[in-house]
Amino acid sequence: MKQPNRYLSLCFMFLIVAFPARIMAQSDIPTPKSHFGFNIGDDYQLANFTQTEAYFKKLDAASDRVKLVDIGKTEEGRTQYMLVVSSPENMRKMDHYRQISQKMARAEISEEEAKSLSKEGKAVVWIDGGLHSTETVAMQQLIEMAYQLASRNDEETLNILDKTFVLLVHANPDGQELVSNWYMRESDPEKRSLSGIPTMYHKYIGHDNNRDFFMLNMKESQNIARQLFVEWIPQIMYNHHQTAPAGAVVAGAPYRDPHNYVFDPILMTSLDALGAAMHTRLNSEGKPGYTQRGGSVFSTWYNGGLRTTTYFHNIAGLLTETIGGPTPYQIPLVPSRLLPNGDTPNPVLPQIWHFRQSIDYSVSMNYAVMDFAARNSDKVLYNIYRMGLNSVEKGSQDNWSFSPSKIEAINQSYQNAQASTDQQGPGQRFGRGMPLEHLESVLNNPEYRDPRGYIIPADQVDFTTAIKFLNSLIRTGVVVHKATSDFTVAGKSYPSGSYIVKTDQAFRPHVLDMFEPQDHPNDFQYAGGPPIPPYDAAGWTPAFLMNVKFDRYQDDFTGPFEKLAHGQLLSVPETQLPSGRYYVLSAHANDSYVVANGLMKAGISVQRATSNGDFIVDANSRNRNVLADLVKQTGVKVTATNNRPSTIPVKASRIALWDTYGGSMPSGWIRWIGEQYGFDMQLIFAPEIDNGGLNDKYDVIVFVGGAIPGVSQGGGGGGFGGGGQQMANIPAEHQFRVGRITEERSIPALKEFLEKGGKIVTIGSSANLAFHLDLPVRNALVELVNGREVPLPNEKYYTPGSVLRTKTDINHLANWGMDEYTDIYFARSPVFKLTAGGVANGTIKPLMWFDTETPLRSGWSWGQSYLKDGVNAFEAQVGQGKLYVFGPEITFRAQAHGTFKLLFNQLYK
Ligand SMILES: [Zn+2]
Repeated sequence: MKQPNRYLSLCFMFLIVAFPARIMAQSDIPTPKSHFGFNIGDDYQLANFTQTEAYFKKLDAASDRVKLVDIGKTEEGRTQYMLVVSSPENMRKMDHYRQISQKMARAEISEEEAKSLSKEGKAVVWIDGGLHSTETVAMQQLIEMAYQLASRNDEETLNILDKTFVLLVHANPDGQELVSNWYMRESDPEKRSLSGIPTMYHKYIGHDNNRDFFMLNMKESQNIARQLFVEWIPQIMYNHHQTAPAGAVVAGAPYRDPHNYVFDPILMTSLDALGAAMHTRLNSEGKPGYTQRGGSVFSTWYNGGLRTTTYFHNIAGLLTETIGGPTPYQIPLVPSRLLPNGDTPNPVLPQIWHFRQSIDYSVSMNYAVMDFAARNSDKVLYNIYRMGLNSVEKGSQDNWSFSPSKIEAINQSYQNAQASTDQQGPGQRFGRGMPLEHLESVLNNPEYRDPRGYIIPADQVDFTTAIKFLNSLIRTGVVVHKATSDFTVAGKSYPSGSYIVKTDQAFRPHVLDMFEPQDHPNDFQYAGGPPIPPYDAAGWTPAFLMNVKFDRYQDDFTGPFEKLAHGQLLSVPETQLPSGRYYVLSAHANDSYVVANGLMKAGISVQRATSNGDFIVDANSRNRNVLADLVKQTGVKVTATNNRPSTIPVKASRIALWDTYGGSMPSGWIRWIGEQYGFDMQLIFAPEIDNGGLNDKYDVIVFVGGAIPGVSQGGGGGGFGGGGQQMANIPAEHQFRVGRITEERSIPALKEFLEKGGKIVTIGSSANLAFHLDLPVRNALVELVNGREVPLPNEKYYTPGSVLRTKTDINHLANWGMDEYTDIYFARSPVFKLTAGGVANGTIKPLMWFDTETPLRSGWSWGQSYLKDGVNAFEAQVGQGKLYVFGPEITFRAQAHGTFKLLFNQLYK
């Protein structure tokens, strides 16, 4: 199996009769070995990006089946590539077939035309690799696939080339370079290892690069989304990952529940069909160890992964998680995995596993998917159209869809009826179910209709953040309309320039998901038992987390609306500087902070109004010029006043942001946010903290979740501790990163920093610092058992990643620019009780708290009433300094724009 030329020689005999011209065309394809010096999948060998890029260029030059497309730059400035592969005949009409693919997915054509185009068109299959760079199989298989598709001449390959376009997409060039070079830096192959990589394999966000696909903050995500949702819109996409659960080789489609109720059923059954094609091919080739559905943790609930976002666009997204790597690996003995069952019909025996086996599995599964697409090209093209049309139809009429809370409403209706005395009503019985009138209590209730569209008014105070939200939709191919003049809907007036997103479009599932709450089911291992954690977040509604003001309509509406071209990004609004003696920038608008920071960097004095935190700037001619530039870049609205409000001056702080060896994702997100909003931050690592003297260098230190260990935990917080043997293996230039925050050395240094007037901001679990400092706060999520406070068990209270609404003290300086109620991203986040003494003597001030028993806005919060009266953010005076504790993830994945200000406000002097 290890000779790539095998295919060439075998097929040569077959093809010499039928396709002599192709033989000539494909004979000069360079093998991986001729280029890299090793076969893809040889033990202890990894190709880096520089080598891969050069190889892709050779394939492009040598093969008329292959076109190398530059899809944009990476965050580190490399070129990100996609290889388009099809038959030479098809390649000559590539744009024509690409447009057919677009038309089918957008479903803006008649059914007749769709049927005809489904016959004329070619199925488009997306295969990517290398998103998570330490998952080396995923990247290296992409190289092997490119070679095999360019060189093979067997009947199956030729049919695939004839009937499909295959898009081979490099998902993370920067990471491949980092990881491969790290592994290969040891000359002795046996010493090569993927452990101990000093930084993340994405410049800012590491593994979270697979959590960015509805928000699309990162360049790589944007490049990929452009091809995936605007340019090509493949019917099938295959996203390679690593690794399988212990005792298996591959975890793949179909996946476990819950699946998201907004999906088209054709999508779910397409995953069954494709999963079966991959799984059956492995079995027929004698490749055991595939597990599906309950055999792994992967579900189809979450939006935001590279694979999962495709579901909300009617694309059959496949994920496999495959074991293996360049260093041989022992498949462990897991007895429960050895018994064949529906999830794992063909178990694998424990054995030493080599890299090439994983490459071969990947090639087999890729071929299964491509072969499926080739054999069913017309059907997969028609089905994406059908799913799009179903969406258009659902969005064009009153439609009632079911979600867990609507099922609960039916049950509630029945229980209410049971409770009343008259049980002999006229309700019609169906089998042994409930009387049908309880269904009608939901289905005939206009309040339960699906929305027909949303209006985003142009006169909202943080309009440029709303534009960012709209651009994230447009980047995934959602159709947006713009009002060309003022208009009125249901008695409410809207200004010209407002935006409209309607649900009568092909990507309706994505539209609903961006605006509506995610209504997660109560998912338990058994009745009364522990909850089953969602694979990632349970709720994320970006319109809530970004604090976008919008109106939701369940009746159709029209107006002077202009449809914007697919994928055409909105530019920032054009605004004019007004006249007056003082310029005013609203504290409610996030981009006001960009402008304020730009002004300060230009040496201009900036004040904040003591009443509400608005930024105030003298309107002299110099300031006017600098301000005009900044306003042009951001689109932020400026007002003016002639009466100087009461103000305090603000100055840029010297900001330190905690990070650690190997890189912290939440820290990386803040590093990126800091760059976007003009806050200069220095990274700080545990050894520097332990050395003390922090007040000389910094005014404020920011700790993300995972940095500060719990009091009783001992040891250290997140990060890589090092240790003698490991330290010796770390290059000198990275050694300053090594170490953890410890109770013995770091906490006293932080305490000293606070007492001498420093400011510390903690997010998420780093609230632990408050307990180390013995502040008068306690965990609120506890119960009394035998007279002792213990954390509430998951059976009673459980809130995985979800959106909750919290009351906010808008008069506190820390909360300037916030609304009275704030939607926060909450993921098993800490919640506090403040002791009365601390509040009374003014050392502790609550900033945000839950004032209701039903704070859940989107996602899942089991036992949410326990949150009532819990404080989720507070300010504490410590000596001369201040500690700001935020339990929720206020900067979550650079999605929670609505709470960025809670960080920004603490970053000024
Ligand atoms: Zn992965």
